[in-house]
Amino acid sequence: MTKVRHVLGISGGKDSAALAIYMRQRYPELDIEYYTCDTGKELEETYQLIKNLEGFLGKSIKLLQAADKSTQDPFDHYLNLYGGFLPSSNSRWCTKKLKLEPFEKFVGNDPVISYVGIRGDEDREGYISKKSNIQSIFPFRKNIWSEDVVSKVLANANLSVIADLYGQLPKASLSDRFDELLSKPVSFSFPQSQKLNLLLDVDTQRFNELVFAFLKQTNYPLAQEDSFPLLDNDEVLVRDDIFRLLEESGVGVPAYYNKVDFTVNEKKGQYSRSRSGCYFCFYQQKIEWIWLYEQHPDKFAQALAYEKDGYTWNDEETLEDMVKPQRMQAIKEEYIKRTSRNAQKLKSPYLLDILGDAEGEGCAACFI
Ligand code: SF4
Repeated sequence: MTKVRHVLGISGGKDSAALAIYMRQRYPELDIEYYTCDTGKELEETYQLIKNLEGFLGKSIKLLQAADKSTQDPFDHYLNLYGGFLPSSNSRWCTKKLKLEPFEKFVGNDPVISYVGIRGDEDREGYISKKSNIQSIFPFRKNIWSEDVVSKVLANANLSVIADLYGQLPKASLSDRFDELLSKPVSFSFPQSQKLNLLLDVDTQRFNELVFAFLKQTNYPLAQEDSFPLLDNDEVLVRDDIFRLLEESGVGVPAYYNKVDFTVNEKKGQYSRSRSGCYFCFYQQKIEWIWLYEQHPDKFAQALAYEKDGYTWNDEETLEDMVKPQRMQAIKEEYIKRTSRNAQKLKSPYLLDILGDAEGEGCAACFI
């Protein structure tokens, strides 16, 4: 039987970097393969983060590149194949071609546990491979399991199977409350999410042991493992923990998160970039385009050069129009108003929080 591989993708963002640190510190016994999918269009800060992480982990992070035989970098290679059609949130060929396909090629048909850095304070699932040999695990959340696994474990059709498995757990770990919750069918008035949260609140480790026992009867990659150290993981890591892990480990927070001061019409503001990914990513906010224009003018010029034949990165305006002096002033002023409103509401020290919706959108493969 093929050995189960444990892999962790580094997107260049803070959460996947923090997850690599966390796994190294908490589960050094796991032989994790680290990889990153390089689009050829990342910011220098991303490559620096990868170097810092390699120093901390004491092992190299494998660089995966789509179209690695091409004379062009991965993005340009596929842009040509797509006839110059720029990717957008409605047509995101870039994620598929530059991130997901190289990852699936890297793992092939081997059974794989893929660790994903979705935080405990986020409500999203992230990339779940459709390939049955890839199983995602979420160590920062109280619920480390993917939705498909939870749905099977808590399905009413499996109540008796689960009851049997529960009965086989060591006696010391049984509790009436857990038993009562486990045997209660999900229904309109008792949804699966509620059952899951209650079970985890009563005894996270027991729930994880039960899931592991259930998986033993399936084709999931974990079925091949005799043990899994994350069964005892009941920690929940949120944004502050991520920054703490990065700072205390010496790896550091990716430099593009650092706030930079600006002044517009005698009003002061601060901007930064809210996420990793390609420097021209169409998910970025207008103020982030202005940040790119002022902090990385060479990259902005390259992004602008892609806009031709009616193809633009934004639906509403071209980059050329966006950086006209009056328009830029308006974007900055609007942004100062928005951030001060949000800062009052949130009272958070992180510009990232104040940027609000920035992180939730987009692609787990690029931004975690
Ligand atoms: S960062 Fe943005 S542009 Fe780059 S691959 Fe991801 S979604 Fe596409």
